Amino acid sequence: MPSADRLTMTRSSRDFFPPHVVTFTSDRSADFKLSDSSTPLTRAQSASLARQMGFRLPGVLTVRQVHGNKIIVATGVTKRRAKAIEDADGILTDRRDLAIAVRTADCLSAFLYDPRHEVIGLVHAGWRGTQQGIIAQAVTLMRKQWKSNPGDLLAAFGPAIRSCCYRVGAPFLEHFPKETVKRKQGYFFDLPGANKNQLLGSGVSAANILDCAVCTHCETECFSYRREGDAAGRMISIMMLKKHS
Ligand SMILES: [Zn+2]
Repeated sequence: MPSADRLTMTRSSRDFFPPHVVTFTSDRSADFKLSDSSTPLTRAQSASLARQMGFRLPGVLTVRQVHGNKIIVATGVTKRRAKAIEDADGILTDRRDLAIAVRTADCLSAFLYDPRHEVIGLVHAGWRGTQQGIIAQAVTLMRKQWKSNPGDLLAAFGPAIRSCCYRVGAPFLEHFPKETVKRKQGYFFDLPGANKNQLLGSGVSAANILDCAVCTHCETECFSYRREGDAAGRMISIMMLKKHS
């Protein structure tokens, strides 16, 4: 079993989504940092991913993450050239056999799926993107582009730093009054909780949200920016709609 399978995320989301919806989050056995602006994956990263996932991805679309709320939409009609990687923090697509990818080391990776319209989405949400409502924006764009009904959507959260470890400053009380808790040691922020609340506010049903509950700061198999600083590598999250066979 590849080491990445030890992350709860991988197993639980595989049961949560139907078999033709591929989801994967790597662990710290390889660094998936975006290393140049023209290739989603280096050759070594590509090979490592194929080894871990058990197959080679037919195509990968990724973004250069900037902690904003911009999401790119890749439809079957508008084929994007893979020349330049765009600045954005989320991707939505209805294209088959196109893997979408985001990278994290404490930030949240959120997987979205509309089973009625066969659309997937992947969002990178740190506190800044969350403050700008990126996950709610993803739902808005799915409604706009595909007429998705939020009540149909399935959402799964990958590993992220959680309120056990995410110590923040007092201003978070103003940014996120519902998801910032005060303890003896200071203020702590519930990043996945804030994203869950945004999804609920967008009409996604609580029963359709799966959170793997892995804290990247507690779990030493994960990269953690808070724990390791600038030396931290990046984990990659992948989502793909497989062609119906
Ligand atoms: Zn923790």
